[in-house]
This record gives sequence, structure tokens and C-alpha cells, in this order.
Amino acid sequence: MNKKVLINDQVFKKMNELTKKYENVENGGLIYGRLNPRWALVEDISDAGQNAVRKPYGVSFDPEYLNDYTLRKIEEKLYVIGTWHSHPSGSSLTPSSIDKKTMLDIFKHFDHSFSPISCIVKWENNELSKSFFTIAPNLNLVEIPFCNITSRS
Ligand SMILES: [Zn+2]
Repeated sequence: MNKKVLINDQVFKKMNELTKKYENVENGGLIYGRLNPRWALVEDISDAGQNAVRKPYGVSFDPEYLNDYTLRKIEEKLYVIGTWHSHPSGSSLTPSSIDKKTMLDIFKHFDHSFSPISCIVKWENNELSKSFFTIAPNLNLVEIPFCNITSRS
């Protein structure tokens, strides 16, 4: 399986802002775009919401905010294709056991050839590092490559 994430600078910029804004705690949200067995096209991400609980090791999203944001995205024909969250700087981008459990729970809601993606980011050394993951048919978590498709003009 060689699923690839297609993403652009605008989404990275938003992730960057939402990560730096909550420097000492985790933040995150949903990822919106389109899924195909071969690629995941990322068009937007959400915040965790005004009533989210952000802690140094975990973030609980605000369901009402996510629901509203998702309905607005569906009007733009963009769908939930996964989740993202930040890890504090100094920590690794490796999914924790809770991260893996969350990813598997989300995976159950998708057709397995359209497996959702997950992204972990951190702000460190003045840059945003990021890793993308998906669930393989054997239920293993695998890291997948991303490609910045920002058009250059
Ligand atoms: Zn995590």
C-alpha cells in the first residue's frame, strides 16, 4: 500500500498557527478533503474548538464546534478524512498507545479501501515537523509520505 498525502502550504500554515497558539499543551482537530485508495487530498483542518480540553498529553475536542465546522465543509464538498494533533516540543512524533487506539476507532467508520489519515505535528527549532499515518488492512499503523502540492507561479 502506497497511499500518499497531498497537502498544501495553506494547510501547513494553519496547523502551524494552531500548534504555536497552544505551545505548552496539545491541540488538534479534524482533517478535511477527499480520500481515494491511493491518496488523501487535504484541503483544510479544524481547530479543537472553544470548549476543547487541551492538556500537555492529550486534547479532547469540542463536539459542537466540530459538528458546525464539518457541516460547513460538507457544503464545500469536503469530507472528514482523519484527525491531526500536536505533541509538545521535545517529544517525538510517534503515535502514543492512546493515539493508536483513537486511529483504530476512527478507521472502523470508514470503508477499508478508503482508510482515513492521521497527522502528528510539533513545533520545534522554529519549524513545524509533521508525520502522517494510516491504518493498513492488517490493522497496523503505518507512516505514509506527504507531498506538498502548492502550485508555484
Ligand atoms: Zn499523540
